[in-house]
Amino acid sequence: MSDLYAVFGNPIAHSRSPAIHAAFAAASGEAMRYEARLAPIDGFAAAIAEFVAAGGRGANVTVPFKEEACRLCHRLSERAARAGAVNTLSFCAGEIVGDNTDGVGLVQDIAGNLGFPLAGRRILLLGAGGAARGVIAPLLAGLPASLHIANRSADKARALAASFADIAPVTAGSFAELAGKSFDLVINATSASLAGESLPLPAGRFAAGALAYDMMYGKGETPFLQQARMQGAERRADGLGMLVEQAAEAFRIWRGRRPETAPVLAELRRQLAP
Ligand code: NDP
Repeated sequence: MSDLYAVFGNPIAHSRSPAIHAAFAAASGEAMRYEARLAPIDGFAAAIAEFVAAGGRGANVTVPFKEEACRLCHRLSERAARAGAVNTLSFCAGEIVGDNTDGVGLVQDIAGNLGFPLAGRRILLLGAGGAARGVIAPLLAGLPASLHIANRSADKARALAASFADIAPVTAGSFAELAGKSFDLVINATSASLAGESLPLPAGRFAAGALAYDMMYGKGETPFLQQARMQGAERRADGLGMLVEQAAEAFRIWRGRRPETAPVLAELRRQLAP
């Protein structure tokens, strides 16, 4: 009998997590199944309870349930508590344990896969929603020279920055207030391109050798990476590597070993080639 896992979201049909975990399981010889489950918007807790009763061992959680998943947990990892959101659930001995692997996935992709260490870098994080909140502590753990958050609603960015002040100073403001500043790493954690909108990022923000990183991914160049290229960002990467790395960390939590990610990322990249 193989152990059962699933990803819960709404919508969920687009999810690549089942293919990623199937590839990890095949490569590592782990006896597990991983399915995509659509949870009703008002029925996430019931869907999880049903899954646990059916013998589910663990689950990933995606939009829009990450905050609700956090509230369902009996215990949280420190990084999940910091993020206020959970993307990885483990079910054991009647307890629900929550973790958040998005931030570590992002850092692993940037520092590991892309060979861009964070230490001493000036980082600009665009956006102040759930995805931004989840990556701040892992970014600060990389000891950057500075971390600045810019958001359309500047007050939200300031409140977010203040909530991490006990770890390290984080500055924040509006897009317009970015004029005159430059950065080594600019991370897009907004959902602007989902709505087909471009970001009001003033020109000249990318320092020499800067990396533009978009948490979004898709076929071809994302709108943010196109904008970054036109504004002179020398290096650019989308969030496909983050997706694979956060999945690898979830797999490690459940199965006790971290799978090799490079072949899985290469295959996804091939599938998404324009
Ligand atoms: P939220 O809805 O929580 O936050 C959205 C953010 O985008 C807010 O800061 C919002 O600003 C900003 N925003 C939306 N539209 C615009 C616009 N037109 N101009 C400027 N800013 C805008 O979303 P999440 O944080 O959960 O997700 C953000 C993105 O990250 C999504 O695209 C998601 O797919 C991606 N993501 C990728 C992952 C991966 O593994 N690659 C993992 C997790 C997320 P305001 O506060 O002013 O409304």
